[in-house]
Amino acid sequence: MPFPKRRLMTPGPTQTPQSARLAMARELINHRTDEFRALIAEAIEGLKYVFRTANDVMILSSSGSGAMEAAVVNAAPRGGKVVVLESGKFAERWRRIAEAFGIEVVRCELPWGQAFAPEQVAELLKRHPDAAAVFATLMETSTGVGHDIAGIGRVVGQTPALFVVDGISGVGVMECRTDEWGIDILVVGAQKALMTPPGLAFAAISAKAWRQIESFRPPAFYFDLSAYRKAAALGDTPYTPAIPLVLALVESLRLIRQAGIENIWARGRLLAEAVRSGVAALGFRLVAERPAEGMTAAHPPAGVDAKLFLRRLEARFGVKLAGGQGPLKDRIVRIAHFGQIDEFDILGLLAAMELVLVELGQKVKLGSAVAEAQRVLSASAARGDG
Ligand SMILES: *Cc1c(COP(=O)(O)O)cnc(C)c1O
Repeated sequence: MPFPKRRLMTPGPTQTPQSARLAMARELINHRTDEFRALIAEAIEGLKYVFRTANDVMILSSSGSGAMEAAVVNAAPRGGKVVVLESGKFAERWRRIAEAFGIEVVRCELPWGQAFAPEQVAELLKRHPDAAAVFATLMETSTGVGHDIAGIGRVVGQTPALFVVDGISGVGVMECRTDEWGIDILVVGAQKALMTPPGLAFAAISAKAWRQIESFRPPAFYFDLSAYRKAAALGDTPYTPAIPLVLALVESLRLIRQAGIENIWARGRLLAEAVRSGVAALGFRLVAERPAEGMTAAHPPAGVDAKLFLRRLEARFGVKLAGGQGPLKDRIVRIAHFGQIDEFDILGLLAAMELVLVELGQKVKLGSAVAEAQRVLSASAARGDG
């Protein structure tokens, strides 16, 4: 590649729109000003629109895991009990945070790649009526599973437990109706489907959650959500926010609103189907039994080393995909199809994957993956849903 070009297709961080990047280049302003308060207000309105919520939304200057920690320490006191639905690297993080704060964790575990059934959660809550919260994941980025958050929300909503959802990567590409689905605390990250550079995280908090949060003193200072609530009443954040990132976020949210969130969800479903059909034609096997719509995780065909394949794809075409984590390390590839990633990127990626497989000595019919994806995309165009 004489003139290298980067094609970032990892499930976080992701490509950011030019207007968002340029917004960060403007001169810095002070945050205790009406000018910045107006931007915070616009960002919060935009986030509420994307999250489908009328609940309070807090902006934290941290990565997504910071918002996860905030959710855990504010949802349950030390010595309290919570349920964690664990079937992947990020769900495991819920448990590890809770353990770090001396919270008793009831583990509901499934092999990586599997999805929880609402009945399982109902059964567990019957045995643990004293659980303060249930922690779940919308899109498990380590396996590409999309969990049934609507179904699980219906179950948890009938109990005193809070329903806490990691929507860090899924929100902004997958359908997520915070209020309708009874999500009490939703945490989201900036650098996934919201197309903003890393460093901001968000938490949407229901009235039920606020009652619980204010019933005890959380072992936290920076992540004490009551402080955020107090500041938000004045249009502020309690501490200095990542100002340039807020400027970028406002731009990205403008683009999302223009596109319309329901259209974005529909597009996520379409791109997911195109990617799944394409990689299946090349002999890849999905990790997820219930695949999410913002990304695809897949095992390469027998005889192909995932790490070598990814390295080759990047060296040859500048395409950056993600590999596996935990027990899937060096065994799978993970492809994001959210945010700015579009049909052209998907077709180009599949064509590049075909070439790399051929170069690695695999028997691949050139054009087969591209043709499968094209079939999906043209059927959708013919139905007029593009
Ligand atoms: C990326 C991700 C996280 C972690 O977010 P950081 O910003 O890296 O802290 C947590 N959960 C899910 C589902 C993610 O995709």
